[in-house]
Formats: sequence, C-alpha cells, structure tokens
Amino acid sequence: MSNPAIQPDLRDLPPQGVQDLLVALGEKPFRARQVLRWLYLGGARDFAEMTDLSKNLRARLAQTARLTDLAPAEIHTSADGTRKLLYELEDGARIEGVLIPEEDHHTLCVSSQVGCRMGCKFCRTGALGFTRHLRPAEIVGQVLAARRLVDQARPLTNLVFMGMGEPLDNLDHLLVALGHILGEHGLQMSQRRVTISTVGLADRLADLGANSPAALAVSLNAPNDALRSRLMPVNRRFSLATLKAALLAYPLKPTRRVTLEYVLLGGVNDRPEQALELAMWCRGLKCKVNLIPFNPHEGAGFQAPDEATVLAFQRVLIDNNLTALFRRSRGAEIGAACGQLAARATAEDDEDRED
Ligand code: SAH
Ligand code: SF4
Repeated sequence: MSNPAIQPDLRDLPPQGVQDLLVALGEKPFRARQVLRWLYLGGARDFAEMTDLSKNLRARLAQTARLTDLAPAEIHTSADGTRKLLYELEDGARIEGVLIPEEDHHTLCVSSQVGCRMGCKFCRTGALGFTRHLRPAEIVGQVLAARRLVDQARPLTNLVFMGMGEPLDNLDHLLVALGHILGEHGLQMSQRRVTISTVGLADRLADLGANSPAALAVSLNAPNDALRSRLMPVNRRFSLATLKAALLAYPLKPTRRVTLEYVLLGGVNDRPEQALELAMWCRGLKCKVNLIPFNPHEGAGFQAPDEATVLAFQRVLIDNNLTALFRRSRGAEIGAACGQLAARATAEDDEDRED
C-alpha cells in the first residue's frame, strides 16, 4: 500500500520534481522523460505498466511514490450522447465532469475543486459550499480518465474548466495541472482548446496570464455592480471596474479574445436595457459574449428566460458590434449542464433531504 502522507503522487509534481525524484533514486536525469511519457501520453495507472523501465526501478518507484488513478465510479449518458462522469476520490469526496461529443472531437468539462466557496446564487455547486481543492493529479486525472472513454474518430481535444469549483481559487494546483495538460512533457494539448472559466478573481488574473497560455472565459452574468453583487458575492470584493481593469491588462495574444459568459436569468438580468448596459461595459475590451440560458435546478429560485427574450438580448449585443453566441446547453436531463454539477454524496442523499 502506498502512503499518501509520505509518498508523493508523481502527477502532483512539475516535470522537474519528477526528475529530482529519479535522480534521488540514483537514476540519470534523462530517465525522467521516459517516466513523464508514461504519466501523461501513456496514461499509466500503475508503475507496473511502465514496461520499458527495469523491474527494479519500477519497484523502487512504487516504494517511493504513488499514482492516483481516477476511474469514473458512475457514468450517466443523455439522449444526445453527453456523458456525466462521477469520480470518487481517495477520501470519498466526489466530483463530476461532463464529456460532450462534437462532430469530430470531444470536449471535457473539468472540475477544479470539490464544491466551491464563491456562493453564486444561481449555481448548484455554489449552494453546496466548499470541501477542498483538487490536487494537480486529480485535475489531470479527470482528463486521463476521459481520454480512455473516447475513440480515435473523436479524440478528446477540448477542455473547459467549467465543472465544479473556481479554478483561480486553486491557482497553484491549476498551474501545475495546466503544465501537464499543455506542456511538451505532458499531454501537449492545444492552448486555444483549453479554456479556464473564472468568476474573475481580479487579483489572480495577472498571475494566471503570466503563467498560462490557455484561453480565458469570465463569468460576468450582470452588467452593473448592484445586480452582480447580489448574484455573485465575489463582486463585493472585485467590482466590475476592477475586473475590467484586470482584463484590459491581461496578456492576450493578438488574435485572441476573452469570452464573457452571461447566464440569462428570466426577469433578472435579461432585459434589453441590461444588454445595452453590458455592451457599454464591454467597450474597449477584446471579447465575445456567450449567452447561457439558466439551467434550472431545485431550490434555485430562478427561471430560464424564454427563447424570444434570449434572442432579443443577443440582438442588442450584435447591434452594438459585439460577437454574441447563444448555444443551448447539452446534457440538461442528466443534470450535466453548466451549474447543475453538484455531486452530492449520492442521489439517495438528495431524496433524504427534508427541504
Ligand atoms: N467557477 C467558474 C467555473 C465553473 S461554473 C465560473 O464561475 O466561471 C461554469 C459556468 O456555469 C459559469 O459561467 C457559471 O456562470 C455557469 N453557471 C452556473 N450555474 C448555472 C446555471 N444554473 N445555469 C447555467 N449556467 C450556470
Ligand atoms: Fe463557483 Fe462558478 Fe458556481 Fe460561482 S458559478 S459558485 S464560481 S462554480
């Protein structure tokens, strides 16, 4: 049995850390490249799989280090082929991911924390509260597990950090995991196809931008401070002006834009004048807007807007020279759409609740 207290998980370490560990075991530094290949592209679940290492080295690695293997404990498939994956972690905590089939590839929605402490009023994960951060191995482990579920015809090429949790609230681990996902010693995924979605922790954006080339999405959800503070407590810490200043300073490549996500809540933030206010706020920012109709969940106290309202909102943005996309959510009937991720202990627990 491995001992988590003293045996490091190799996928929690940056590549240099893996090399240092091998050197400490008396190996030459180049051996690290071989091991790193097994860890990421090879997706090894166990040291025994690393067949081009000597038996002796495999045995010493197993005594010194460990590997977390995230296998989905449950998979729920919706009519459109979207799969909700439920992962059980070593301490019994549960997280969810969503694997979405597209024409020629798959997109995975990745979690960064068990629960979330941002408390957004419309979000099911937010209502759960916070349990803990995910380790880098648990973040990249979701990707490795999902890669095993897809075939070559539709490989896993796209990731969105829109599962449970606020990625920038777990920035250190996120950055290590992004290294595994994007790096030359890792999965070598495309920077343009990996998107970090954040509520906009303005004080961390500079750090993210300096250390990660991934695409950025910010959940705006309201066009003024009064409403945003009501819906998203984080806005009391970082106002819309502060957030905009941080986004203007964000190091975007010339051809890239920030995606602004806007969850439309019926009768709350979906009026044409609010669309105009949003368009004004966007001025000067290289951005595009993603309109997401609210996905209802029990006890949320909000409603989805009707389609005509969404289209009218979108029209105002387009008339003000913004790119505004509206895509219906997938996987809603299996609770796999945005903001429906909750992974309560079990489905039975839900039924046990009196409220
Ligand atoms: N914490 C990060 C990423 C996870 S939430 C963030 O907030 O950006 C991913 C997206 O789901 C966010 O844009 C959020 O606004 C949206 N979302 C949350 N609850 C939702 C709901 N019930 N219906 C539709 N979108 C929701
Ligand atoms: Fe957390 Fe994002 Fe949900 Fe807000 S919307 S509670 S930040 S997961």
